[in-house]
Amino acid sequence: MEKKVFCILSGVTAGFFLFVLTPLAFLYQPFSFATITIVSFGLAIAVLFVLAQFFGKVYPDLALWAFFLSSVPLWLHFGGSRGPMPLVYVLNMVLINAFFRGSKLNIYIALTLLLGTGLSVYEQIYPDQVFSLPGTLPAIIQNSVGQLLIFSFSFIAIRSIFAALDAEHEKVRIYAIELEKRNQELQELALRDRMTGLYNHHHTFEVLNQECHRARRHDYPLSIVMLDIDNFKKINDSHGHLAGDQVLIKASEILRSCVRNVDVVGRYGGEEFLVILPQTPLMGAVDVAERIRREFHRREFGQPMLRVTVSLGVAEYNGEDTEKFVDRADQELYRAKQAGRDQTSWSFSLV
Ligand code: GH3
Ligand code: MG
Ligand code: MG
Repeated sequence: MEKKVFCILSGVTAGFFLFVLTPLAFLYQPFSFATITIVSFGLAIAVLFVLAQFFGKVYPDLALWAFFLSSVPLWLHFGGSRGPMPLVYVLNMVLINAFFRGSKLNIYIALTLLLGTGLSVYEQIYPDQVFSLPGTLPAIIQNSVGQLLIFSFSFIAIRSIFAALDAEHEKVRIYAIELEKRNQELQELALRDRMTGLYNHHHTFEVLNQECHRARRHDYPLSIVMLDIDNFKKINDSHGHLAGDQVLIKASEILRSCVRNVDVVGRYGGEEFLVILPQTPLMGAVDVAERIRREFHRREFGQPMLRVTVSLGVAEYNGEDTEKFVDRADQELYRAKQAGRDQTSWSFSLV
């Protein structure tokens, strides 16, 4: 058991026995069996507390023996006149042992003991106030059943309090989990473009930055494809802005379907998309770009006479700044546009 927990448990227990139960016992039954037991047990636990607190020595099992040793000789001294009391203490010993081993159940048991012992003392001082059994029963039965009732009642009471606290705690826990989920959703939303669900410009650039770092560190190839829809202004003009929006949504679906899971697609501008292809050399990226370009030829865009083509610029990372890298892909895209659109452009760069 952890030293801190042991100190708290033994300190509180000793304090309760010596400063609460002892004065009560002395007040009402000085030098009785109960009083002497309470004092000797309180002192024994106090010794354990001092050993743990000031000498760092933790003896959970000694708490058990302390209780045992404090009760049996007394019982013998009083000639067994208190009937089954030592049996109750042996039971308590088992419980205390569990308590000093520190699980949640054991905390219930510990508190049960405190409450139960308090009630027992009260019952000794004011007989028949806590429980009342027919006086005709033999004392041994009265005592054992009485103790059993007191400790059962205490356990149920403590268990109920904990059940209520647990239910509250569970509610708060579920609420916290939901809040965390909402937060994550909100954060995710802030990274994405509303219309297409793709990463927005800012986050796409962030991801590319990280990929550039990784490519540099591990020395693996990294390529990007910058894609722009051809004559998009005309599409808007002749089919309407809403049809234009649908084309953008469809384009994002095509892009997603043409790349691997590890690739990242972002909406980089109005009708401009950036595809990040980790661990892909230039010619692999050109293949992907051509696959995308051909896919735009194959797809229907929901309106008769609506044909959509794209131009693409491809670049492989050569250790430069991220801005410079994107700029090279942009220049290739510009070349593809200049060369008549609906094509892919790339060139080998010297490091
Ligand atoms: P180019 O082949 O040279 O790329 O010609 P383009 O017409 O595609 O290029 P330009 O840059 O002249 O026009 C882009 C158009 O894209 C202009 C802008 O109104 C439109 N656009 C940008 N964002 C959106 C959007 O979210 N929805 C729609 N419907 N249109 C958009
Ligand atoms: Mg365009
Ligand atoms: Mg454009």
